[in-house]
Amino acid sequence: MKRQPAFELGGEVIAAGRRLSVGLPMARLYTHTEMTMPVHVVHGRQAGPTLFVSAAIHGDEINGIEIIRQLLKNRSLNRLKGTLLAIPFVNPFGVIQRSRYLPDRRDLNRSFPGSPSGSLAGRLAHLFVEQIVRRCTHGIDLHTGSNHRSNLPQIRADLTDAETARLAKVFGAPLVLHSEVRDGSLREAAVDLGLPVLLFEGGEALYFNPAAIKSGVRGILNVMRAIGMLPASRKSRENEPIYAEKTHWIRATRSGIFEKRARLGALVHKGDLLGILSDPLGDELSRFFAPVTGVVIGQLNLPLCYEGDALMNIAAVKNAAEAEEILEDYTSELTVEDFGLER
Ligand SMILES: [Zn+2]
Repeated sequence: MKRQPAFELGGEVIAAGRRLSVGLPMARLYTHTEMTMPVHVVHGRQAGPTLFVSAAIHGDEINGIEIIRQLLKNRSLNRLKGTLLAIPFVNPFGVIQRSRYLPDRRDLNRSFPGSPSGSLAGRLAHLFVEQIVRRCTHGIDLHTGSNHRSNLPQIRADLTDAETARLAKVFGAPLVLHSEVRDGSLREAAVDLGLPVLLFEGGEALYFNPAAIKSGVRGILNVMRAIGMLPASRKSRENEPIYAEKTHWIRATRSGIFEKRARLGALVHKGDLLGILSDPLGDELSRFFAPVTGVVIGQLNLPLCYEGDALMNIAAVKNAAEAEEILEDYTSELTVEDFGLER
């Protein structure tokens, strides 16, 4: 088989069949310290798609960092066709500060496609688009719930695009949520350049959630097989995901203490009790009931809440029995260790 040409990134040349960590120069710290965005390039012997897998665009969403670390250890990458660009810290400033945002208080995922003369966030977004996204044919962006909130492993993608919909299914997360692209997001910038892009959500900010990490690593490998970057697996089993289009946030009506009565990943029927909000000095303030039949895809882990805080996120489902079966299948594949640290 013919070898593919070398891959060039950040002034480095990576020969076919080699891998290398490359640092893309970005704005320095004000301590004069140089900063780079690290990119691990795995350049296969033979030609194929170019996939970016990115994490921590929100700097406190660290689950994806671990997903990428485990992905890069996977032996099947020795047989890679095409090129994998793994970027564990798209927002290195945020990761250092353990913050969702950048030092200029902007959300990097609302700053795309950015510009070389824009804000700090806009410049970083521009670097990512020019150096990474433009070189790729496919993308997967890894996220978690925001602070003190866990998400059930799920794919968010524009299902009106056939190839994106195919890959969303193949990923194998228990739930796929149709979601239009958001203004200024990395996903929008990538879709504008014609790439099918999946957004994976799973786990909680500032924690490693073993179940979500497992789902993420498996899902990326499944997508890589489906686009011909890795050989097809012999025992590949296609799990049909739950499809959802609409989600309902349950918000605290008053400030107080929230006691959950439904767990993450549970199927709830319209009218089921989701939780009880109480005043810390004793009185029950309100009970929350499921507004629709659906799956608990996100929840607040911290029991303390202000009025208006998002407590639970329910994705409406059409076929409850089918959804329950899919959730049971998903749970049955998890080990004690996966649950051990589950929050
Ligand atoms: Zn995020």
